[in-house]
Amino acid sequence: MSGAPEWKLKNIDNKPKSDIMREKKRIKKLTRHPVTQQQIDGILENELKELVFPVKPKYNARIKDNGKTDATENALGHVTIKRILIGKQDFPSKDYLIDTLIHEYFEVEILLKKGSDKFYKNLDKATEKKRHAWINSQIRNFRRKQGV
Ligand SMILES: [Zn+2]
Repeated sequence: MSGAPEWKLKNIDNKPKSDIMREKKRIKKLTRHPVTQQQIDGILENELKELVFPVKPKYNARIKDNGKTDATENALGHVTIKRILIGKQDFPSKDYLIDTLIHEYFEVEILLKKGSDKFYKNLDKATEKKRHAWINSQIRNFRRKQGV
């Protein structure tokens, strides 16, 4: 037979997608603090109105972390953000919730830019500790610009 090599016959997009889950981890605390979708929406429309999220962050009281971003990546490296979930918070303050939302914003930024930008690719491959150190510095910069 003179057919194309097998690899050419496969549709690379049909390969299984890998799931990516990024979490704003919580320290072990007995008391966790519910927030409401209304509080989240209020922050997105005011304090964080300049941040554009690919999907709207949704409150979910069942997740065990402060925040969680779910994404998929296909065989070509294209990342799709599926969900951004905001859980109960470790601290009952608006500032803490704002930090959680900014944290997920930068997790999303890394995921969406890692395919085309070496800086973000390196952050994605770094340890969670290093990635979070960078995210925390971005949160501080953002807050400083806001004069908080
Ligand atoms: Zn994180």
